[in-house]
Amino acid sequence: MSVLDLARPELRAMQPYSSARMEASGGAILLNANESAWAPAGEAGRGCNRYPDPQPAALLRALAALYGVREEQLLVGRGSDEAIDLLVRAFCRAGRDAIAIQPPTFGMYSVCARIQDAGIVEVPLAADFTVDADALLAALTPAVKLVFVCTPNNPTGQPVPRATIERLARELAGRALLVVDEAYVEFADGGSVAGLIDTYDNLAVLRTLSKAWALAGARIGTLLAHAEVIALLRKIIPPYPLPLPCVTAALEGLSAQGQAEAAEHIRIVRAERARMTPALAALPGVREVLPSQANFLAVRFDDAGAAYQRLFAAGIVVRDVRRYPNLGDALRITIGTPAENARVLDVLNGDRA
Ligand SMILES: *Cc1c(COP(=O)(O)O)cnc(C)c1O
Repeated sequence: MSVLDLARPELRAMQPYSSARMEASGGAILLNANESAWAPAGEAGRGCNRYPDPQPAALLRALAALYGVREEQLLVGRGSDEAIDLLVRAFCRAGRDAIAIQPPTFGMYSVCARIQDAGIVEVPLAADFTVDADALLAALTPAVKLVFVCTPNNPTGQPVPRATIERLARELAGRALLVVDEAYVEFADGGSVAGLIDTYDNLAVLRTLSKAWALAGARIGTLLAHAEVIALLRKIIPPYPLPLPCVTAALEGLSAQGQAEAAEHIRIVRAERARMTPALAALPGVREVLPSQANFLAVRFDDAGAAYQRLFAAGIVVRDVRRYPNLGDALRITIGTPAENARVLDVLNGDRA
C-alpha cells in the first residue's frame, strides 16, 4: 500500500502542465517563454523579466538543511496556506471526503475544506486545550483523509506531545494523512517532528518563514512529507509559485547573519513570553493567561471587549478570539518588542496616556 492510495486517483493519473522553464533550462538567448527581453524599471524588479525557477535549487537546499530532510521531501509554496490548500485538494474528493480538526484552532484548515467542498469532522480540544487522541481516533470516519494537528496550537499556544503525534501517525497509517502544523515550533521547547517523516509515510509537517523568520511578507511556506506526496503536489501547484524577490529575501533571511538574527529574536520572544505570562495574569480584570509555547498569549478577561477597546484606543491592535469555542472571554496578544509589551501592560493597567 502506498500513501498515495489515499489521494484522489484522477490526480495521480493526471499529466501536469509543463512550463517553459521545466522543459528546458540553461541557454543564453531565451526565446521560449514569451517573456520581455528587457529588464523592468527599478531595482526591486531586477531579474523579474524572466519567469522564476518553480522550486529554486538554492532555496530547496537551504530549507532542507534547516529542517533536516532531503530536498525530495520538500514543497515550497506561498506560505503554509498554499500547502494546506494543495493537501486538501489532492486528498479530498469534493462532496465525499473530509478533514478532521480540533477546535479552537487555526482557521485555514476548515476554509480550505469548504472551498473544496470537503467535510469537516470537529473533535474539540480537551478543557485544558490538549489534544484528546482517543476522542480524535474514535471520531474518524472512513471519509476523513487528512487529520490536522497544530502544535503549538494557534490560538491557544499549547504544544502536542511528540508521543501523541507518533501514536496518531501509527494509528492513521493506511487511513489518513496526519498533517502537523509547526508554524510556531521555533518558539517551543519540544522541537520538530520532521525527523519522523522517514518512519511514517502518512506524516506531513508544515513549516513557515512567516513567524520566527520575520518573512510573513515574502510568503514562503514549506511542506515536508514523503517524496511521493511531494511529487503529487508538485503536479498540482501552479507553475511559478515563488516570486523572485521573495526567494531572494528568503535566501538572505536564511544566511548565517539571518540565522543569527532569528535566533536572537526567538530568544527575546521566549524571555518576554516568560515575563508577560505572570505580568498579564496579575493585572486587574485578567482571569487567566494560557501557558504558551508560541509567540503569542491567549488571555482571558472579565470583559475582553472592553480590554480590546482600551488597547485599540491606545493604538495597540490585538486579536479578538472570542468567536472560538471555549475562548469566549479571550484575546490573543502577540509578543512584540520589550517596549511594545511594556506598553500593553501599562495600558491594561489603566494608563491611557
Ligand atoms: C501563521 C500560521 C501559519 C503560517 O501561514 P503562512 O501561510 O506560512 O504565512 C500556518 N499555520 C498556523 C497555525 C499559523 O498560525
